[in-house]
Amino acid sequence: MRFEISKVLDAIEGRVCTDPSLARAVVDLAEVIRWQDLDGGRPASLLRLGMVIDALSRQMEEDSVPVYAIVHRALLSDADLTSNERMVVRRWADDGLVEVLDHPGDRMLEVADLLGLPVLSRARFDGLGGRWPWLGQAGRVLAPVPGAGGPVFIAHVGGGQTPATGSRSPVGAKLLARQWRCPEPGCALFGGGGGGGAFADLARVDRAPAGQPPPTLRNGVPTCPRHGTRLGDAGPRPRTAVLAVRIGGLVRQRFALTENQPVPVGRAPDATGGGIVLGQWLNDEARRWVSRSHVRFELRVGEVVVTDTSTNGSGIRPGGSMAEPDRIALAPQQSRVLGEGDLVELYPGVQIGRADELASDAKFSPTSVMAEAPTMAMRLPRP
Ligand SMILES: [Zn+2]
Repeated sequence: MRFEISKVLDAIEGRVCTDPSLARAVVDLAEVIRWQDLDGGRPASLLRLGMVIDALSRQMEEDSVPVYAIVHRALLSDADLTSNERMVVRRWADDGLVEVLDHPGDRMLEVADLLGLPVLSRARFDGLGGRWPWLGQAGRVLAPVPGAGGPVFIAHVGGGQTPATGSRSPVGAKLLARQWRCPEPGCALFGGGGGGGAFADLARVDRAPAGQPPPTLRNGVPTCPRHGTRLGDAGPRPRTAVLAVRIGGLVRQRFALTENQPVPVGRAPDATGGGIVLGQWLNDEARRWVSRSHVRFELRVGEVVVTDTSTNGSGIRPGGSMAEPDRIALAPQQSRVLGEGDLVELYPGVQIGRADELASDAKFSPTSVMAEAPTMAMRLPRP
């Protein structure tokens, strides 16, 4: 059974990130793991994060929805977690997938404010509405509670049941226009400080500056939330466009496209090079048609450029039109700038476009990150 749990934790690992372009909600991991009523299991369980992510995915009608997790440092040695779970959280911390803090304080709300994300929490945040006025807006704070078929969201603050995303605050937009450097060696969040433990440096690839989390502000000064040190300004942050893949009417995955970093998409492109792998979502016919690396996306001076790298060619759906006469063929090796609303079609029903212009349009049945979970961990509480 240990093996299956590891696989679930690996799947959950794919849904935690501190990338401002990709995270869709903020959670306090120490709070989530103790929602014992979600499954009636152990006092603390990392699998509850997976249940909450699944609920978020259902509500947002998208697969692969990542959360921004704030982790109290004490959690790394929490005796209520299994040693395997502690090891996994430490790995997430080392890789900068989660934010580990000595004093989380209001950081969860700060991140939600800077990025415009909903907060998944059972706290009521009494008295904080003055500082964070959006707390009162519908869907910005939702409490995951047990429901039929997994957690559902209710509001303790502000009303609404659907997670609502706002826009980045003006301060957030300003902070996220720059890249930042932490003077602390081997900082997982604002890396590149130089030096550090030999093993840490060997194991860790420098974090892509475009995916850096937002700094925390201390007396108006951009500060590393982990180390409390003042961050250095390392120049403008590379521009980013967020694209999404829709297959069979369902949005399966979002990905960030950054200047100077082309992204190949296809049946099985080189994933270590940042390629987006579609193979697992394709039927046999589509797998035969779609090339290993089918198209390549680039961001050039703010424009999204697509180049066909396939054997069979692709098509453009101008403005998202699904009418056959509108379809523009994109022959192998041909490039095109993506206009507003345009979709790239690799195969009928396999489309890529800007994430904010692409919604799921079929009845949604998400791929659960809990698919490998043993049934005993999923036992529901007795009524
Ligand atoms: Zn740091």
